[in-house]
Amino acid sequence: MATVSLSEEKNLSRPPVEIRQTKLLIDGQWVESASGKTFETLNPATGEVIAEVAEGDQEDVDRAVKAARKALETGPWRTMDARERGKILYRLADLIERNIDELAALETLDNGKPIRDSRNADLPLTIDCYRYYAGWADKLEGKTVPINGPYFCYTRHEPVGVVGQIIPWNFPLLMQAWKWGPALAAGCAIVLKPAEQTPLTALRVAELALEAGVPAGVINVVPGFGPTAGRAIAEHMDIDKVAFTGSTEVGKLIMQAAGRSNLKRVTLELGGKSPNIVFADSDLEAAVEGAFFGLFFNQGQCCCAGSRLFVEKKIYDEFVDRVVSRTRQQVVGDPFDSNTTQGPQVSQEQFDKILAYIQSGRDQGGKLLTGGQRAGERGYFIEPTVFADVRDDMTIAQEEIFGPVMSVIPFKDVDEVIARGNQSLYGLAAAVWTRDIGKAHRLAAELKAGTVWINCYDVFDAAAPFGGFKMSGIGRELGSYALENYLEVKTVTVAL
Ligand code: ADP
Repeated sequence: MATVSLSEEKNLSRPPVEIRQTKLLIDGQWVESASGKTFETLNPATGEVIAEVAEGDQEDVDRAVKAARKALETGPWRTMDARERGKILYRLADLIERNIDELAALETLDNGKPIRDSRNADLPLTIDCYRYYAGWADKLEGKTVPINGPYFCYTRHEPVGVVGQIIPWNFPLLMQAWKWGPALAAGCAIVLKPAEQTPLTALRVAELALEAGVPAGVINVVPGFGPTAGRAIAEHMDIDKVAFTGSTEVGKLIMQAAGRSNLKRVTLELGGKSPNIVFADSDLEAAVEGAFFGLFFNQGQCCCAGSRLFVEKKIYDEFVDRVVSRTRQQVVGDPFDSNTTQGPQVSQEQFDKILAYIQSGRDQGGKLLTGGQRAGERGYFIEPTVFADVRDDMTIAQEEIFGPVMSVIPFKDVDEVIARGNQSLYGLAAAVWTRDIGKAHRLAAELKAGTVWINCYDVFDAAAPFGGFKMSGIGRELGSYALENYLEVKTVTVAL
């Protein structure tokens, strides 16, 4: 069994982290919500209330959009030199770096992820993302176009305008960086709604952004719930573009709302059921680690989790044994303990949903080899769980679980695994483990997924685009591709 360092006696350490901001940020001011309502954000390790946060709704989104519009049309942001915008983004990255321990603690407190992950993964990736886009700010060039006739034709790449951004709770700081980096580099103004489960770090980064010199109104943050504040963003008539990361179900609502309202541009980064394919000719040790990490990282709360682990029959039994023993080394416990490798799930709702999936795995004949229940008596901890002999038609092989539940599925040959790997409504990511370079590239070409990792998993970089095929989304984030989401192309033709 995985080590579980949880008990009623042992108090989970409450870190010395100050909650500096709990209000809405609108037009450079920290304000209460129009309704005066607040909501609780909880510590997932204990279920206790961390803070009361101002609850934004339609009226607040409206105020934020007005501020963003004003900042865009009449503020210094529009006329500022592009390089100056870049400098502000570099300063923001520096400020986050200067406050890295505080932000890591705040992220762990609000989300439950182990401090070693927030400190060594979320924060460095966040900082790197802002720096990467800082460098783009003065490199957004149009083209000169050789059209017929006595004309001079060129394109201008202009900011798309006021952008609404709705982000999830699994990587709060990083998802904010993926959204803010390209939007700010492109010169847009922003209304962000963080997830209701994890609003705290977004507010703190907003405070640092003001300190870095982002003009008032260019960034606005409206914490609140999806069907109220989130919906108000998606339906708003004066938001030019909405970027959403979250469930496929809500992604559809966002797109419908955009269609019903002003046809705002839509990019979506949604769910996944990514195949992680291990061939007999792979480096088994690396593949076991990749299978383990690709599924259990971040408590399994990754849209790109390798949640369909296909293993070639020749090595199936050995591989299952090895991945189960690796899973049993997982250290589940207090996220502020630096030895902990798995913290709690983010919320009661997620916790209940995952346990229901585990039950369905049992009911439908999956072979439960380890885990399978809650860990400890309080907080939202779940034992790292492995099901073997999973069939493609089982619910746990088809639906996104978003938790620490691995499904191992045997396969026989290349053609078969390509077909089965692609048999999903999703197409976010995939991975292939093999020493045969030809086979690796053949799978890379044939798998219907926005990202294919070969002999690695979850390798992210600000420069590498990420996004989904099929129902995993629309558009790409990161890299130069993400900038296009935040730019309009204007064609200018001059008679000579
Ligand atoms: P999860 O199920 O993982 O919480 P969601 O897709 O529900 O994922 O949430 C992702 C983000 O979308 C959150 O910020 C949430 O508040 C927001 N959201 C949820 N429902 C809606 C909605 N109807 N309209 C707009 N945003 C929403």
